[in-house]
Amino acid sequence: MDPGGPSPLMHFVVAKKTINGIFDQLLEYVKEGSEFVDETWRSADLEQVAVEEQCLEIQTCARKLATIREVLARRHMKVAFFGRTSNGKSTVINAMLRDRVLPSGIGHTTNCFLRVEGTDGDDAYLTTEGSDDRKSVKSVNQLAHALHMERSLDSGCLVKVFWPKSRCALLRDDLVIMDSPGTDVTSYLDSWIDKFCLDADVFVLVGNAESTLMNTEKLFFHKVSERISKPNIFILHNRWDASAWEPEYIDEVRKQHMDRCVSFLVEELRVVRQEEAPGRIFFVSAKEVLSSRMHCAQGMPETGGALAEGFHERLREFQRFERTFEEFISHSAVKTKFEQHTLRAWQITEAIKAVMDAINIASAERKIFSLEDREDQKDRLEFVRGQLNRLTENVKEKINTITDEVAAKVDIHTYPRTVNIRPLLPPAVQEQLHIHLPSRKFVLSYDLNLATLCADFQENIDFQFTLGWTALVSRFIGPSNAKRALTAMNQKWPPVSYALTFSLQNTSPTPLQAQGGTSLQDHRVFSMATGVVSLTSRASMTVLVIGGVVWRSVGWRLIALSATLYGLLYLYEKLTWTNVSRERALKQQFVELAIHRLRAIIPFTSGSCSQQVHHTHSSVSLEQWSPTFFERRSLSESKCKPHLHDLKNIRLCNMNLFKTVL
Ligand code: GDP
Repeated sequence: MDPGGPSPLMHFVVAKKTINGIFDQLLEYVKEGSEFVDETWRSADLEQVAVEEQCLEIQTCARKLATIREVLARRHMKVAFFGRTSNGKSTVINAMLRDRVLPSGIGHTTNCFLRVEGTDGDDAYLTTEGSDDRKSVKSVNQLAHALHMERSLDSGCLVKVFWPKSRCALLRDDLVIMDSPGTDVTSYLDSWIDKFCLDADVFVLVGNAESTLMNTEKLFFHKVSERISKPNIFILHNRWDASAWEPEYIDEVRKQHMDRCVSFLVEELRVVRQEEAPGRIFFVSAKEVLSSRMHCAQGMPETGGALAEGFHERLREFQRFERTFEEFISHSAVKTKFEQHTLRAWQITEAIKAVMDAINIASAERKIFSLEDREDQKDRLEFVRGQLNRLTENVKEKINTITDEVAAKVDIHTYPRTVNIRPLLPPAVQEQLHIHLPSRKFVLSYDLNLATLCADFQENIDFQFTLGWTALVSRFIGPSNAKRALTAMNQKWPPVSYALTFSLQNTSPTPLQAQGGTSLQDHRVFSMATGVVSLTSRASMTVLVIGGVVWRSVGWRLIALSATLYGLLYLYEKLTWTNVSRERALKQQFVELAIHRLRAIIPFTSGSCSQQVHHTHSSVSLEQWSPTFFERRSLSESKCKPHLHDLKNIRLCNMNLFKTVL
């Protein structure tokens, strides 16, 4: 073995580390997948994507993988040594471990198998089959004594020897060494093989250079070969140092051993090809190698003392055996220890994949269904939206139609209360209206509320003679003033001097002005009434004078004729004062009052109409110019000016309207 190169056993170590890492990842994925499937199954609605069976299957797969992961973590390379007692099996093992681990030279101490493996602790110990008690082993002599004390153990039982890895490099690389009791001392070969050999990666048959292979040894390997396909078998011809004393026969003896062993491996066991067989057969001296290595470990010369001739050649052959053995066992162990589990894991992952594929397909189908459903919903939404738009347009049209109809009916039936301005506008303004309001027809509502305005209307349908005293006075000074004047005449009037004085003092506020809003006009009316009274007094005097003159000139006949005509006229008017006349008089009185009141509310109604127009223009602007803020802004700026112009026109229209109404 080349101490400077990396150990071939590292091949197994690296492979084990890698495969354990892969299994850790795999377990993590499967665990995640199991949780996903479980969650999917539990949260499923009517259209299930995952079912309970899939959930259980993936959980089972996860458990199997976890079990394989545990088995792989415990996997190691195992080499089993077989051969007759005292052929030097223990010595060979010690030489490989470079220390006296197992007792030798006293025959096999028990009928048990000794299994040597490394421990991370600093103290060696052993355990026996069926017990976890650790028996401390300080030295090889103690081990021998302990094994001697365990003679009560059944034949073929297992004793585990745990040796500190820090004291042996070979045990650090997951190598387990099995020493057997000796094929010549047992008749339980079959049970041995079943119990201890089926998991061995390499079998080493330790023979004796002084004798050929015995039938018991051959029988054992035949049985092994029956159970294990092409086992890796090495044959060591130990105690070869003894042949050094007979150099003249050494080559011939070596050739005889070689031929027999090759024949055994190739022809009898058929575990290797002819050309490979010599590479499995070695002629060594374990005793010399162990002695040499222990000397080196103690800092002494390699050879120690007097050694037989050919030591270095036998040492190199032992090293070659070790190198070949390590290469074989590592590669074999990787294959035998990991291959089956890898295949099993692959099958498990295939099962998991099948579950996931089924879920994936179900999910894809669900997705397709959902997408189709989404498209249907979108189509329905578009349809409903279109229907809604059409419905909205229809409703708008109907509203406009109804508005027009109502406006037309209102124009006809409720003219005094609500007025559509268009027919009332002057023809010139009507023609311009569509220019100012091109796409919008609006109705200005004037609630003239004549009932309230004319609530205090007092009709006067009593008969009044045209040439009567009251009528003549009313014709001169107006009906209301005449009434007031005549009422005042019936009371005790102030003298004319007082009236004149009163009229002269009207430049300053009078008590009459201060009370109840009686204005200067009232004062003037009062003066006029007193003037009429004085005038009529003078007219009576004039009539008497003229009557006297006429009496003298035309005589009493003309006077009688005039009186008759006056009486006939009175009679005519009295007779024609029918209900029709009264109605006409009533209407005339109402119209006069309405004219007066409507004139008073012109400013207020005009302002209200202006606000309506302004509001309508604002709403029209918002509806018509909605696309973007900037468009709206620029459009509103361009539209505002004509609309302000419209506003002025509408105010003008309002004035015209009222003129028309009045
Ligand atoms: P085991 O019963 O097969 O385990 O054989 P041991 O390892 O106990 O060896 C039996 C005896 O053979 C011991 O006294 C060893 O010292 C001796 N022995 C082992 N190997 C060699 C060797 O290579 N050369 C010589 N001369 N003696 C050996």
